[in-house]
Amino acid sequence: MEIACLDLEGVLIPEIWIKFAEKTGIDALKATTRDISDYDELMKMRLGVLEEHNLGLNEIQEVIATLEPLEGAKEFVDWLRERFQVVILSDTFYEFAAPLMRQLGYPTLLCHKLQVEANGRVSDYLLRQPDPKRQSIKAFHSLKYRCIAAGDSYNDTTMLSEADAGILFHAPQNVIDEFPQFPAVHTYEDLKKEFIKASVRELSID
Ligand SMILES: [Mg+2]
Repeated sequence: MEIACLDLEGVLIPEIWIKFAEKTGIDALKATTRDISDYDELMKMRLGVLEEHNLGLNEIQEVIATLEPLEGAKEFVDWLRERFQVVILSDTFYEFAAPLMRQLGYPTLLCHKLQVEANGRVSDYLLRQPDPKRQSIKAFHSLKYRCIAAGDSYNDTTMLSEADAGILFHAPQNVIDEFPQFPAVHTYEDLKKEFIKASVRELSID
């Protein structure tokens, strides 16, 4: 049996924090791990900014609901689900991803959680476990599933290495150069071909 493991942001949907910053006009929320390398510091800053602007979970989800998956993403997920068990492994939060997952037909998602108070205030965040993408692949292997994984960035590379086959999708050139062992593609049509190539079964693209 084979599981297809997909990263979410950059692969199926836009980068949520960046889009959220654009929609709300709050520039401070455009910062990423490239600007503040300590993830905890970055998240505390983000939660502080949300509070400052009086944005609770309801307001955040209203904004995120106006975002759309990347063009062709829904069709790609449907195609993949006819051929593989599909699991999305993401470093986002359930509460953020929810409006976009609805548009993708609710595929299985393993990610992190926000701690939300009764009034909607986001008080903290809870990471599921360290190195969660790699640990998920290890767990599927322990269940005797073969894993083919696709992702776009540094936080996916341990998942791609741990999987039986790893594919870079929409990756920036520096990631492609640094990880030449993974095939790198930029369209869903090419990504389908890579999944078919990586499978041990005889699959057809149509
Ligand atoms: Mg990504």
